[in-house]
This record gives sequence, structure tokens and C-alpha cells, in this order.
Amino acid sequence: METISIIDASKHVDEEVRIGVWLTNKRSSGKIAFLQLRDGTAFFQGVVVKSNVSAAVFALAKEVRQEESLYVTGTIHQDKRSHFGYEIEISEIEKVGASEDYPITPKEHGVDFLMDHRHLWLRSKRQFAVMQIRNEIIRATYEFFNKEGFIKIDAPILTGSAPEGTTELFHTKYFDKDAYLSQSGQLYEEAGAMAYGKVFSFGPTFRAEKSKTRRHLIEFWMIEPEMAFMHQEQSLEVQERYIAFLVQGVLDNCQYELKLLERDPEVLRRYTELPYPRISYDEAIQLLTDSGEFPDVKWGDDFGSPEETFLAEHFSKPVFVVNYPKAIKPFYMKPHPTRTDVVICADLLAPEGYGEIIGGSERATDVRYLTEQIKKAGLDEKDYEWYLDLRRYGSVPHSGFGLGLERAVTWITGEEHIREAIPFPRLLNRIYP
Ligand code: ATP
Ligand code: MG
Ligand code: MG
Ligand code: MG
Repeated sequence: METISIIDASKHVDEEVRIGVWLTNKRSSGKIAFLQLRDGTAFFQGVVVKSNVSAAVFALAKEVRQEESLYVTGTIHQDKRSHFGYEIEISEIEKVGASEDYPITPKEHGVDFLMDHRHLWLRSKRQFAVMQIRNEIIRATYEFFNKEGFIKIDAPILTGSAPEGTTELFHTKYFDKDAYLSQSGQLYEEAGAMAYGKVFSFGPTFRAEKSKTRRHLIEFWMIEPEMAFMHQEQSLEVQERYIAFLVQGVLDNCQYELKLLERDPEVLRRYTELPYPRISYDEAIQLLTDSGEFPDVKWGDDFGSPEETFLAEHFSKPVFVVNYPKAIKPFYMKPHPTRTDVVICADLLAPEGYGEIIGGSERATDVRYLTEQIKKAGLDEKDYEWYLDLRRYGSVPHSGFGLGLERAVTWITGEEHIREAIPFPRLLNRIYP
């Protein structure tokens, strides 16, 4: 008899199979026991009918405890009432591992308690669904960039210089020198683009974010494509194709998970319709001002969560806000050809209150301009000699962007807080477990 994963149930209907499982819950009467099971690939029911099994098996079914691990043997049947759609009629049970009193009971638990038990909470239905969708987004990311002719160039995680600003940097020792944990792989991706055309990195990034928000992690994963011979408008087209591709992947491959999360696929389907609207920063300021809800907003401000929420809700779709003030953006963005106060950049804002999920720009190509900007930003020119070389030897128009993986996961799954979108969140005041 075959040992299977329940995810393959459709290939084994009415067959006898064996599955390694954990018990999540149970209900029993004198004649029948219903075991709620998970095997890591789905949640499903096992039915034990007293008259069909040995006395020992029925006794075991009645005494098995939450989170004990078992092998169950039985016949797969369709179960139209459940989200998953299949159940197993059990004939044999073997106990594998006992469980002490499980701390996470079916009652409601507070956030801190669940965060303290994150290593166990990962077993919950909700976390199962979020992690499966996160995995689909990662899978679709590789497929998309492969299909579009990108190669993955890994940026270093330890760097000797601080890319932009210094307040959010993690400092460490690098033998007798100073080093920092990467906040972004972008500058290295630009070198990659000059070498191989279309590249992307996908790695962990670190920011000592001092404020508590629903959108900021201390450690998060970023996907950073960079493209040579590419202007901003073409980059925006890549970005919207990429986001629509991620959403479509989830719609195609995560229907069960969306059901578990009660995330309406029809809402997500709207986000696969391209193009996404584009508005300028100036127009965004106008919209905010006209709404009367933002009396303090003025030209030159960066947007916070309320402004981003308002703008994306206004369109009920992801929206690109382009050409922000130069003063609030990093040194490497391309200056506007006719205006000195804005740069060629875009943030993609997700609807439903999720805010910025992508930040990107066309990059400055002029070595003199860049040198000036580096000085103005108070950075040490020495640290950027290698970066300036990219402009000295065959500079081309190039553009790129960064997507925060967990921002995308939080939005697509409809979770309220970004901490749910990564297995072991690093937050202000939390580095355990
Ligand atoms: P925000 O304005 O929300 O603080 P940012 O403009 O500082 O974001 P960028 O430097 O543009 O962020 O980084 C690119 C992307 O990385 C963002 O669009 C977002 O998706 C993601 N990101 C940035 N900071 C965080 C964080 N602390 N936690 C999770 N994702 C983040
Ligand atoms: Mg930030
Ligand atoms: Mg921002
Ligand atoms: Mg940004």
C-alpha cells in the first residue's frame, strides 16, 4: 500500500492509502470518531467507525490527543462539505509521537502569546494558508523572471558602506573593519545589469525600523530587478505584468488556501486587469487636498499609510504614483529632464489599505551629477567609486525596482499585519523564537 500526501487525494479516490498526520482536533461518540487531521499539505477529516475497526483502533481514536503524530491507513473518499474536498475512512492507526498538553487550544489567544509560540502557531490553518501562498509567490517570481529573460544575481548581505541614510542600518564588525547588513541589493544589481542586461536579486534585507507599524519588519525579503537599456515607462510595464502574474499564480494554484483565509478571489481577479493607473505625485497631492481629509498635506511631503491608503482606494486597484520630489528620494534616481524638483521614479500602492509594495526608478547615468548627489547626501565618495565606474564604462539608461515579498504576501492574503507573512518575524522588541 502506498504512503501518500493528502494533497494527492484526487489520484487515490476509493483506494487504500497510508498517511503520516498530526491530530488537530477530534469529536467522537460511542459509535464513530471524527479526527481532524493535517499532514502538512492540507487539513482533512479521518472517520473511524467502531463497527468497521478493531476494538484497539477505536480505543486509540478516542484517546489520541491534540498534536500527536500518527500513521493512519484507510480509504480516500470525496467530502464535498469540507474546504479540502476529501476525507479518509480509517481502518488502522499507529501512534508515532505522543504530545504533552498542547499550549495552543481552540480558544482565542492573544497576539503576544501566538508570537511567543510562533514555532507551533505555524501549524495553524491560517499560517498554513499564508505560507503556501508565500511559497506560490516565490515560485511565480522565479517563473516570471525566467520567462522574461532575467538572471538571478545575488547581492551581498554584508556591505562596507551605507547605501542611503544611516538611521535604519544594522552595524556589525567585519574583522577589524565596520560593516552593515544590507538594506537593499540595488546598487549591486545595477552592476549586474551592466554585465548581463536583465537581472534580479532575491534576498533578505535588514532595516532597524524604530516605529511599530502593520507594514514594517526588521528583517524582510526583497525582490530587486534591474534592467539595462530600459526607461521608466517600460519598467512600469514589467512591474504591472509581474504583479498581475503573482496574483494569477495564487488564483490558479491556491484556491484551497484562499478559501481557508476567506479571501475573495473576485477581489484578487480585479488586480490581474492591466494596465494599472498612473498618476503623478503632483496629481496625488491634488487628490488628497481636494478630498478635504488631509488638511496638513503639502507638496514635498512623503506619504504615510493614510495617504497611500486613500490614493489606492480611490482607484480600487494598484496605482503607480510617479515622479516624487527629489528631496525625499535617494541620490541615485534620474533627474527629471525639464524639472529640477522631481525625479523619475514610481511607487506602486496596493489597494485595501496595504500601501507601498514596490519602490522603483530610472537611475541617474551622468557621473558628474551622481558625484554631486553623493556629496550632497553626506556619503563618502570613496565608497562609491565602484558604483561611479558603472557610469564611466558604457553607461546606458537603466531602471529597476524593489518589491517587498512580505508586503505582497500580506496584501494578497488579506492579512492585517505583515508579521503574519514571514515564518519567524523580526519586530521591534521581538527576536524570539
Ligand atoms: P516605506 O515607505 O513603506 O517605509 P520604503 O520606501 O522605505 O517603504 P524602499 O526602500 O522603497 O521602502 O524598499 C522597497 C520595498 O521594500 C518597499 O516598497 C516595500 O515593499 C519593502 N519594504 C521596505 N521597508 C520594509 C520593511 N521594513 N518591512 C517590510 N517590507 C519593507
Ligand atoms: Mg521606509
Ligand atoms: Mg516609501
Ligand atoms: Mg520606497
